[in-house]
Amino acid sequence: MFLASQQIVLASGNVGKIKEIQAMLAPHIIVPQAVFKVSECDEIACTFVENALLKARNAARHCHLPVIADDSGLIVDVLQGAPGVKSARYAGIGASDLDNVNKLLETLAGIPDTQRTARFVCIMVFIEHADDPCPLIAQGMWEGSLLNHAVGGNGFGYDPIFWLADQQCTSAELSADAKNELSHRGQALRQLTAQIKARESV
Ligand code: IMP
Repeated sequence: MFLASQQIVLASGNVGKIKEIQAMLAPHIIVPQAVFKVSECDEIACTFVENALLKARNAARHCHLPVIADDSGLIVDVLQGAPGVKSARYAGIGASDLDNVNKLLETLAGIPDTQRTARFVCIMVFIEHADDPCPLIAQGMWEGSLLNHAVGGNGFGYDPIFWLADQQCTSAELSADAKNELSHRGQALRQLTAQIKARESV
């Protein structure tokens, strides 16, 4: 049985994510997997959901506690979904955000605005233990299109080229709070929180 007071491990080292998740899931205590010295697992699957589950099971096996994990990336229609699960390493293993953005801009050179549609996707999962046969799975999607030059200094990854027509700015021009309201990650987190609260008992 999953208790409302229980610790939950977050299979991520991202401090921003931990704060956000902690705020939404109190009185649960969210503990980053680094506290348990969990080593990161390889994200070898070809879908976001499988990679999120790989990360979650890796942490649960080590910590023997419930785990939240996520996987996200950018899907570009004209590239049949690339960079997709390889978003972090699009320009090669160890590539920087700037390398990845530059590679994407080069790949899309000459593609007209109407065909530059894309979306960020985030899958967030919750498992009670490593062999949980019934994981909770939430999915957030954020629609946009890709500019041919970078604009804005906030955020990370592909934010400087991700144009939001309804906001008339890139996601790198949004404040952190505004981005959380709209983003794929914010959507997935709110959905997953509702699912976890529905599962827990006092
Ligand atoms: P992660 O699974 O959250 O680590 O994201 C994998 C990669 O997808 C990141 O390294 C970024 O390249 C890209 N990505 C995911 N979410 C975002 C976002 O909110 N803004 C920009 N890039 C993102």
